[in-house]
Amino acid sequence: MVILVYYQPTEPISTNVSIMITECLYFVDAYLTRFSARVVARAERGGRPAVALDQSAFYPEGGGQPHDAGALNDVPVRDVQVEDGVVWHMLEHPLEGDAVEGAIDWPRRFDHMQQHHGQHLLSAAFERLYGLRTISFHLGGASSTIDLAGAALTADQATAAEELANQVIWEDRPVLARFVTAEELAALPLRKPPAVEGAIRVVSVPDFDHSACGGTHPRATGGVGLLHIRRWERRASSSSGQGGSAVRVEFLCGGRALRDLRWKNAAFGRLAAALSVGAEQVEAATARLREAEERARKRLETVGEQLIAYEAHELIEHAERTGELRVQRRSPRAAVWRYWACAPRRPSWSSPAPKGWMWTAVRCCAQRWRGSAGAAVASRLWLKAACRMPCASRKRLRQRSRGCKILVTIP
Ligand SMILES: [Zn+2]
Repeated sequence: MVILVYYQPTEPISTNVSIMITECLYFVDAYLTRFSARVVARAERGGRPAVALDQSAFYPEGGGQPHDAGALNDVPVRDVQVEDGVVWHMLEHPLEGDAVEGAIDWPRRFDHMQQHHGQHLLSAAFERLYGLRTISFHLGGASSTIDLAGAALTADQATAAEELANQVIWEDRPVLARFVTAEELAALPLRKPPAVEGAIRVVSVPDFDHSACGGTHPRATGGVGLLHIRRWERRASSSSGQGGSAVRVEFLCGGRALRDLRWKNAAFGRLAAALSVGAEQVEAATARLREAEERARKRLETVGEQLIAYEAHELIEHAERTGELRVQRRSPRAAVWRYWACAPRRPSWSSPAPKGWMWTAVRCCAQRWRGSAGAAVASRLWLKAACRMPCASRKRLRQRSRGCKILVTIP
């Protein structure tokens, strides 16, 4: 049986103007999607017209849970925030009249309920099994994360916590959400202490978890459906209190977990089809593919070396002589800065360039320049940007060098 005890303070905590605090209907019934209310105040918030109502089922952003969406008299609600107990509904355009019919975007709300309650269960599982305390929670548009205070998390620990959380989900235990007195609060073994003062709302799963929380939750743990940990990583954290390290765990619940499984299954099927194997052979086929690719790469490297040596001999035979260098422009296209050069030793920068030639510094890629005992060895050189001429860019170098020959040297 689900017990929902509802309590709210009767006076505003502090407001500049006297606005009646909003009766939050989602505290009583998180499944309420339509309600009637009256406008008690109008204002502008974030450049949008905003209204406060005497009662509202809209959940305002807070406690890691995003705000609800929906409409008031068919006017879309773009944002919901709470200030001193007053829930402000930021609207697409101004609302006419004071009597409103509110409608909650239920798929969005239920998704938030699944993720939020899943977080309670996962955090409780990590704390019960390994004493790993949750220090923060983020409910994102695509996935949710918790940060655990601690230096590391093993795959076995993640699996065990996921297993325990799902076990509690499938047992469909009741979820109790109620405001408690100070005495009741003192008697509860809270996993998460209250972050606010005054009336404290506690969300409990019998014999498993008690947390101070103002969020929306399903009636029973079964509403979460399924919880799946996607990945985790170490993070530097200033609030962990354990040497600044934390582990961020990304997880999905309910409909999100189903959609994730659906696309992964489809992608895996396409992968298997591309490899022409069954799904269970995809890993082995991928490993074979990588080995074959590595063998092909090594073979290509060997053949490339052999080709360079072969080309070098041919080029030395036909190279043009200038000073101590023999240079041959390899590519007829100016855009391809590829040269062959050979010389018995590295030329000096200080020596003047012969008429019609320019000095250019190049980086030597592939084969390094090699000179041995006066015997010229050819190397393949690709021209890079650096140059000794008073021109900064490769484009200018190309312009200036048009019609010239270029002396290349090894940096
Ligand atoms: Zn919570």
